[in-house]
Amino acid sequence: MIPRVKVFIWRAIQDGLLTSERLHRTIHQIDAQCPICATSEETASHVLFKCTIARLSCFSSQLSLRTEALSDTFIEALSAISENLDNTQYSYLCTLLWCFWKARNIILFQGQNTTPQQLLQQVMEINSWAPKGMQTPKLKRMSESTFTALDGCNTMMVDASWDQQNNTGLAFLNFDSRQKLRWTYAQYLKAQSPFHAETMGLLMAVKHAITHNIQQANQTIILTDCRNLVETLSKDSLDEIPCWHAEVHIHEIQHLLNNHPDLIEIRYVPRQVIQAAHKLANRARVDRDRFQAPVLNPFPTLD
Ligand SMILES: [Zn+2]
Repeated sequence: MIPRVKVFIWRAIQDGLLTSERLHRTIHQIDAQCPICATSEETASHVLFKCTIARLSCFSSQLSLRTEALSDTFIEALSAISENLDNTQYSYLCTLLWCFWKARNIILFQGQNTTPQQLLQQVMEINSWAPKGMQTPKLKRMSESTFTALDGCNTMMVDASWDQQNNTGLAFLNFDSRQKLRWTYAQYLKAQSPFHAETMGLLMAVKHAITHNIQQANQTIILTDCRNLVETLSKDSLDEIPCWHAEVHIHEIQHLLNNHPDLIEIRYVPRQVIQAAHKLANRARVDRDRFQAPVLNPFPTLD
């Protein structure tokens, strides 16, 4: 299971999802009804198992689950329904639930509907990004076209450039949900290894995503060509970090992602997809005088 899904399920179990019913308990002015189907209170169990899209998708998924009679308490519903599932099926189910929550937020905050077919397709894609699915054939399918396929999300490309003298350039580009370039960032510094450099670059990008993109309900997808880093971040144990200098940054990234579970997603893509970030990082490494202090441009020029 990918870490964001784990955190999401944990939040749902802890009654931490901000559903209408949950908000109504603290703010009485907020209606507890489900804003989508208006047939009952919007509890976690309702959104994730019983509301229209959840019910239809659970049934038409490869698990063919019937959810209408499940308990109104999320944890009871989850244990009942997962009783006969093996680990793979359980992780599929959890990813499905996470996608219901994202679909619900997209309907409410962006007014866009998701069909069960689209949703099941998303689940398959997400499962293929999980570490076990990270085999070469799947990765090869992600070409330049991947970038244009991210319409509707903020997208960031991040890269680092490193040489044997530890000179390092970090760069990221931030595109808004209409794929317009909004920010570029570039910085010169020293890093102990290419992995260390990539980790620092990603940390900068994650921090930027949190400060600049958080007001929008849109998710930010951060693209990196460092597969090792994506795999390290998805592990629970940090025993095998390729460079120990990077450990503190890895911790910080994980901490930020856990605090903003629906906001940021990090994806591995081949280098050609993030060419623009690659060039900018090279420039920051070579032109150290200009990039000694971080350069964050709201209206950037790339050459
Ligand atoms: Zn509903």
